[in-house]
Amino acid sequence: MSEITRDVVIIGAGAAGTTAANELRKAGLSVAVLEARDRVGGRLWTDVIDGAMLEIGGQWVSPDQDALIDTVAELGLETYSRYREGDSVYVGPDGTASRFTGEMFPVSAETERVIAEITERLDAMVAEIDPDRPWAHENAAEWDSISWDAWLRSQTDDDEAVRNLAFATGSAMLTKPTHSFSLLQSLLMAASAGSYSHLVDADFILDKRVVGGLQQVPLLLAERLGDDVFLNQPVRTLEWSTTGVTATAEGITVRARHAILALAPVLYNRISFVPALPRLQHQMHQHISMGFVIKVHAVYDRPFWREQGLSGTAFSPYELSHEAYDNTNHGDERGTLVGFVSDRTADDLFRLSAEERKERILESLSHYYGPEAKNPVVYYESDWGSEEWTRGAYAASFDLGGLHRYGADLRTPVGPIHFACSDLAGAGYQHVDGAIRMGRFAAQNIIEETRA
Ligand code: FAD
Repeated sequence: MSEITRDVVIIGAGAAGTTAANELRKAGLSVAVLEARDRVGGRLWTDVIDGAMLEIGGQWVSPDQDALIDTVAELGLETYSRYREGDSVYVGPDGTASRFTGEMFPVSAETERVIAEITERLDAMVAEIDPDRPWAHENAAEWDSISWDAWLRSQTDDDEAVRNLAFATGSAMLTKPTHSFSLLQSLLMAASAGSYSHLVDADFILDKRVVGGLQQVPLLLAERLGDDVFLNQPVRTLEWSTTGVTATAEGITVRARHAILALAPVLYNRISFVPALPRLQHQMHQHISMGFVIKVHAVYDRPFWREQGLSGTAFSPYELSHEAYDNTNHGDERGTLVGFVSDRTADDLFRLSAEERKERILESLSHYYGPEAKNPVVYYESDWGSEEWTRGAYAASFDLGGLHRYGADLRTPVGPIHFACSDLAGAGYQHVDGAIRMGRFAAQNIIEETRA
């Protein structure tokens, strides 16, 4: 067991941890980053599976994500746009697939009117919310005590409208059943992207990808840290006092003045804190849980849907794969589709054999793109639920009532222990942009404390 001393020990080498470490270094502080896995990047992971380069975790960049956009540019990475020429597909309640363009699904005129009206109402509510302080809104307590589903159903009896409105923050973002999180949590999700309309606009929210994969962001940031990143080092114990911390991992002990926990909040309890964290943190952390979604990658010898004038963009709240997109890599002749299966549907699928699961998912994709979708040359399911050091996807959120009750305390340091993760962010919440913002925030707090 080796022992080293640094100004700051950072636990977790995802986007948040590697950002924080670089910011601290720039301010002249010494760092050690301890990472449980044998790789850098956390929920950003690019791998080659059966000859196909796949982004197993996060990949898209949207135009509001300044922190991520600046980092991508500063690291000299190139971006490219998601393919979006042609018609999108919507599968309605009777299983019929229809083509459409723009953001409004091809629903009846009355359902369209209801969707537009509630979207306007939601945009007005979101505009009043500060994503960094949603609990500060005068209606926060009320909005946090009603589920997203119950609120939508209180606005209209139109089931198709409710399902289409619900899934933007439900299956597609928080990846939890819509009865299990609050209206306020849903408004935060929308506010973190600028508006509810932004969330439902795939051309906005899923705008660009990074050539070679988004994992390069933490990889290049870690490269700058050289020998100060230690892999295969799950931190088991964090001793702390007013004067500093001692982090003990598998093969290394780091003594430092400050620690940053740069990991998903659902994993804090994997670390033994000595002394234990205060009562508030014990309670608060139990009200945060991970969503769950399977990201499905299907690679074909060519992007056959483009020949039919389809963009690859597809949605249906009635389908197993509630959304799917053209995810062809930059410069690749082959065509890739990416589909998503969320929350309870994902639970049900994992009760099946791998073969049955694949068959059911490809069947669902074929409802959007036709029978050719059933025969990919490469097929892969990103299953973050079984990853010990993540435990779900995309990220963590509060249960009903938790955001208003605890949100204001989430990022508050405990003695020398600071917190940074996309799951604690306001702007960029649950996204790499938020991870970078939180990494900068924790680093800045430590830099200011050091200078005081
Ligand atoms: P993490 O990436 O989770 O990093 C935490 C690190 O801490 C991990 O490396 C973990 O191994 C390590 N760790 C945990 N416990 C310990 C311990 N005890 N000791 C040492 N190390 C520990 N975001 C987007 O912006 N665009 C997208 O398109 C997008 N799509 C996504 C698709 C999927 C399938 C997933 C899973 C996520 C997606 N996201 C997307 C979300 C985005 O990837 C995350 O929000 C972001 O990467 C989180 O970064 P982080 O540094 O906060 O946390």
